[in-house]
Amino acid sequence: TADTGDLLPRPRRLLLLVNPFSGKGQAMQWCQAYILPMIKEANISYNLIQTERRNHARELVREISLPEWDGIIIVSGDGLMHEVINGLMERPDWEKAIKTPLGILPCGSGNALAAVKKRDGATTLLLNCCFLLCRGGILPLDVVSITTSPSPSKNSRAAAPRRLFSFLSVAWGFVSDVDIESERCVYRGLGSARFTLGTLVRIASLRSYKGRLSYMPPSVVATSSNGTPPPRRPLTRSITEVLDQNQNTSRPRPHSLLQHSSSHSLPPKMTPPSFSPTPPSSPSSSSPDSSSYLAPRPNTPNSTLNSPSFQMPSSSFNFDLNEPAGLKRNRPFVSLPFDVPRDDLLPPLDQPLPTRDWVTIEGDFVLVLALYQSHLGADLHAAPQARFDDGLIHLTFVRAGISRTTLLRLFFAMEKGTHHSVNSPYVSHVSCKAFRLQPLSPRGTLTVDGELVPYGPLQAQVGGGALAIYSY
Ligand code: ADP
Ligand code: MG
Repeated sequence: TADTGDLLPRPRRLLLLVNPFSGKGQAMQWCQAYILPMIKEANISYNLIQTERRNHARELVREISLPEWDGIIIVSGDGLMHEVINGLMERPDWEKAIKTPLGILPCGSGNALAAVKKRDGATTLLLNCCFLLCRGGILPLDVVSITTSPSPSKNSRAAAPRRLFSFLSVAWGFVSDVDIESERCVYRGLGSARFTLGTLVRIASLRSYKGRLSYMPPSVVATSSNGTPPPRRPLTRSITEVLDQNQNTSRPRPHSLLQHSSSHSLPPKMTPPSFSPTPPSSPSSSSPDSSSYLAPRPNTPNSTLNSPSFQMPSSSFNFDLNEPAGLKRNRPFVSLPFDVPRDDLLPPLDQPLPTRDWVTIEGDFVLVLALYQSHLGADLHAAPQARFDDGLIHLTFVRAGISRTTLLRLFFAMEKGTHHSVNSPYVSHVSCKAFRLQPLSPRGTLTVDGELVPYGPLQAQVGGGALAIYSY
């Protein structure tokens, strides 16, 4: 057994990236009041870095030495998570880097990913997420490879399609308009209420946009791939270089998540993970069998969290600390290693889509929303059927002609996740593996994970469970 001193694993080391301006600007206060006491109590060591500007976190994770960290924790909203994922994907060792476990401690105004774990008020949600982080269970999360139009720039070299990676959403029309308009200072102080106010303002002056939406239903992929996926076709120069480099060197398959991130902290008896299709045994179990890879690390025992010195607001948690992590899931764990983000179902953005296998809708849209997690915001349960790693993009589109009342009803129902029962010929919900959106109106907004991207054609393909996320 591993209970002699030198065999004990070292404490987990986490890099906390805090955006002090996220949400209502309370991230540092919440860190001091809730987060740091909790992770100290869980015997986790950490470094805390406050971001100083947009893209600071992205540059930072591009440069850091990853083996020094067991995980990177975003203390902000979804925007900072987007930066970190893209920073990791811009590294030469991206295939390995993207498997670094990531966590989010929600302090932003858009806390969609955090809300997937628990839907509740702001600090309660934060405490729940912090608690899950301390437990240390990791699950795979889908990542979507996106190609956007080139940024409008005088520099002609920038006129190539841009590839980026997304964990949450693509929005066009109503949803992106509200997100971007409500980012202005006047709304900022409202926290997540900025979305509600923004929605009401935009419903009052409802717009529609001309466009073409094409998508590939999941059944097509299952039947047409024939087990031999088409060759990968990278889209931007930087990614091309990275991929070429990876294809030319006969590298072994990507390290599995836990080999990469924490082999040095595992007791020698443990073997590389091979996941059983059943949920892992109780986290308090001391036997280091393969399933305990997904259970809390031995250095964060539940007893620490249960110790009398740990003041946990009991009303905040409605699950039992001793309940086996993973039993909450309604299906078995998927196996590692995870997939890598790909876009092999898509032709280049400037070339037509094949007519076979694709469904195309052209006309006037109020909104198009592509979501791969269940929540669009802490209070927007926009794709209740979505699972972390279902390998699906959930598309909702609303066509022009919908009445303001129906649209309002749709958004109210979304808070509870019951909007699929709002019957309207103008509202559609479909799921797909890939889609292309071609806005045909001259002006509008387009967002990826709530961040503005160049307005113009955009396409996306989902990769199953490419990310590792602290989440149960
Ligand atoms: P919120 O949910 O409040 O919008 P986000 O995490 O989404 O919080 O962050 C919003 C934006 O702030 C992101 O686009 C991120 O790049 C940017 N950002 C991060 N750090 C800073 C900073 N120190 N100053 C200004 N903007 C920042
Ligand atoms: Mg944001």
